[in-house]
Amino acid sequence: MTGAAPLDGRTVVVTGAAGGIGAAVVDVLLERGASVIAADLSWDAGPPSAGAEPYDVDVADEEAWASLAHRLEGAPVHGLVACAGITWRARVGDVRATDLARVHAVNVGGPLLGIQALAPLMPPGASVVVIGSLAGVNGHYPVAYTTSKWAVRGLARSASLELGPRGIRVNVVDPGFIDTDMTRSAPEAFREASVGDTALGRAGRPREVATVVAFLLGDDASYVTGAEIAVDGGSSGHAGAKTVSDALRPTYRNPSLPQHDPVGQE
Ligand code: NAD
Repeated sequence: MTGAAPLDGRTVVVTGAAGGIGAAVVDVLLERGASVIAADLSWDAGPPSAGAEPYDVDVADEEAWASLAHRLEGAPVHGLVACAGITWRARVGDVRATDLARVHAVNVGGPLLGIQALAPLMPPGASVVVIGSLAGVNGHYPVAYTTSKWAVRGLARSASLELGPRGIRVNVVDPGFIDTDMTRSAPEAFREASVGDTALGRAGRPREVATVVAFLLGDDASYVTGAEIAVDGGSSGHAGAKTVSDALRPTYRNPSLPQHDPVGQE
């Protein structure tokens, strides 16, 4: 990767742009010269950063996407960042089918409708980035959210096949525990356990996701499609083995090795 990927003058639509990760994506894209359409349900909490164009859209509404496509017609759309998402913290025994459908309409239907509406306006070299989740690669307890994030990975892979012949790339970024309104609304036990599961021992910052999104939008990623990049501080990398490692760290030393503390734990 070569530093900042130049996106000079390229139009990129970012959904979920009013808060959290989406707002950070808007900021990073503006810094890199993109022309950003910042799309969200509402801007009650304040407008996007100067330079971005706010646009009201419910990503689950097909007509709203048709209006946006109509508004953008005539100018190439270089990118779509499908970031809008909602959670619903009900377990398998409690979740209702209506809640499952509601979460899927936004988290899966939203990216699908966005791709359908904007791909016809995309030239070769364009790029779609779908925001997945660590929950989409493991068995996270909020089942509506988890199933939606597994599904959206499948959508992105199918879309990468469909759009590849036109030179359009589709990739997924899977954030782990990132400090946003969504995670601030979680119970404290959830927050502590999630941070405890990271190798880096901290929550991520929205900007740390946004810079990876910007990389995937740019030409530095020109041969990357149908791929997924975890931005999770190492949460998925250990596949559960961190508990074992942590449990043994204070006491276990291989007697055949020098007795020193290479990671400064003591
Ligand atoms: P957030 O709640 O801070 O922001 C989400 C934004 O999406 C909000 O501005 C909201 O208004 C918008 N939105 C919700 N429904 C919408 C709809 N129907 N149409 C248009 N906009 C809508 O959340 P966040 O933490 O920034 O999450 C952004 C994305 O990242 C989501 O897809 C989420 O699932 C994913 N994610 C977040 C985390 C995390 O730890 N924060 C982890 C993994 C994945």
